Order: sequence, then C-alpha cells, then structure tokens
Amino acid sequence: MKRCCDSSPQRHPRGFILVSALFIVITWTGSTLGAASYEGPYPYRAAATVGMVADIVKAVAGKSGEVSQIIGSGLDPHVYTPTRGDVAVLFKSHIIFYAGLLLEGQMADVLVKVAKRQPVYAVTELLQNDYLIHDAASNHSDPHVWMDVKGWMKAVEVVAKALAEFDPAHAALYRQNAESYLERLNELDDYARRSIASIPEGQRILITAHDAFTYMGRAYDIEVVGIQGISTESEAGLKDINRIVDMLVSKQISAVFVESSVSEKNVKALIEGAASRGHQVQIGGELFSDAMGRPGTYEGTYIGMIDHNITTITRALGGDAPEGGMQGKLSPAH
Ligand code: ZN
Repeated sequence: MKRCCDSSPQRHPRGFILVSALFIVITWTGSTLGAASYEGPYPYRAAATVGMVADIVKAVAGKSGEVSQIIGSGLDPHVYTPTRGDVAVLFKSHIIFYAGLLLEGQMADVLVKVAKRQPVYAVTELLQNDYLIHDAASNHSDPHVWMDVKGWMKAVEVVAKALAEFDPAHAALYRQNAESYLERLNELDDYARRSIASIPEGQRILITAHDAFTYMGRAYDIEVVGIQGISTESEAGLKDINRIVDMLVSKQISAVFVESSVSEKNVKALIEGAASRGHQVQIGGELFSDAMGRPGTYEGTYIGMIDHNITTITRALGGDAPEGGMQGKLSPAH
C-alpha cells in the first residue's frame, strides 16, 4: 500500500484542476437535478466511494436504496484508480456520494463525467474553512475528517438532505434514519472523548506512521506525532528518529502505533532506540486510517473502526477502556 496523500495536488496538478471543476459541476448539478425527483422503482441504486461514506448512505437510505461501495476494504483511496467495472457501476447509479477534499484524487475525472448525468455529492461539503485543517505537505485541506466523529456527523447531514431532495416521497424517513444514526455517532463521540481523557495527561501522545490522525488529535485532545516518510537511510531521517526517541524516553511514552502502510523498519528503529536508552516501548496495535476493517465484521463498519482505534490507543497508553470497546463488540484479537 502506498503512503497516504501521494495523490496530493502538488504531485498531480491535473487532478487538482479536475476536482475544482468537479466542485463547479456538482454545485450546478445539485441545483438542477435536485428538481427532478426519483420516481421508483425501489430500491434505487446509490454508490459511495469509501466504506465510511457507504455506511452513512446505508444508514440513511435504509431499504429504499441499494448501496454499492466502489473502493473496497483495505484499499488506499488516495491512489485508487477506478476500474471499467467501477465506472459502469457509477453510471448505473441513481445517486453518488464521495468523501471529497481530494481524498479520491484519482477518481475526479470520472466523477466529473458522472455528475453531468446523475446527482453527485461530496459529503464534506458542509465543512467550513475554519473547521478544516490545512495540510502543509499537499497545500490543501486534510481530508481525514472521519477521525473526528463530530465532524463526520456533518457528512450525515449532507446525505440526509441529498436523499430527501432526490426522493422527497421518503424525506421524513431519511430524516428519522439520519437522526438515529447521529444518535449512535454522538455516543461514539462521547466514548472517544471519555476514553482519551482517561489516558494520563503526560502519556496522551499518539505516535503513528500515517498523517490521518490530526482531526482526531484536535477533537479528543491528544498530541499526534507522525513518523511517516522518515527514512533511517538519510542523516535527516536519523535526526527525526532520534527526536522521537528523545520524546519517548523523556515523556516515558509506552507505545507507538502501526498501520498496514507503515515501514516496520522505522517502528523498529524507534523501539530499539528507546531500548538502548533503557526505555521499553511496545507496538500499541494496528490502527485503521483510510479504510475500515474486513466487511461483515464490526471493525468493518465506521463505528467499529473508530471504536477499535480509540480503544486500542486508550488501552495501550494507560487509559481506561473496556477490552471489547464501547459496546463489547470488538474482536478479541484487538
Ligand atoms: Zn490518508
């Protein structure tokens, strides 16, 4: 798996232009197609790019819509290029949702085309500039908004409104479904806040490979330090490793976290570096960043994914969270 945000606008200026164009097309499409409402049969076909978005659409549409998820479990949305089959699914769908903020950078082209015929919505469209975190590496807004449950609740609002416009006959049902999903997300947000706050203050540092956790850090008050991109082969890389080792030792941090995309070598260098100075550091567990767990499992849902991350981080850093997570549903391996 390639590292996160490889498809940044700096590296792919064309993608950036396309997404800007997409925004204009969607703004235009939303207002024109919004008037022509769906007239059946049910279920209609809805498509969503990533699992986190598909989960919202499933929860809000209920039995009225059949949801296809384009980017499968475990795949990196930053670099995902749609297949011919994906394009066919998108064109056959009656309504399409994507995360936006350049998360699906390589899908911009096809989404622009689809938006000329079908309503297409970015679920992050309600998030204002003062909420969004600027990512210096890509010179664009950080797209990993789902890591802050309160921020992701705005995405539920977008889906609820979009479906009500698309299928006004069921508007009341969509509102009701959205309300009950929002209630569950509220509980998840409370759990996250409570759990992270239980970590002793000096230990509240999340050292991880990916740059996906900044919204989580801000929302739940935990410092986030990324080791991504640091190479032990360069002098600068070694300096960075030493800087993080210093932090591990001086603050007595007991765990660092990995993801499937992390280079083992860097994590090992941190653990060995700390050990050589008499401080034991463990791998606190693997976190889900841009993709949820296996389909059909609790971790394969948005709520399960966040529950897993929060519970894993809290327990590894000396905080108080039940092994089974918020609802006792986390798999024992975690
Ligand atoms: Zn990412």
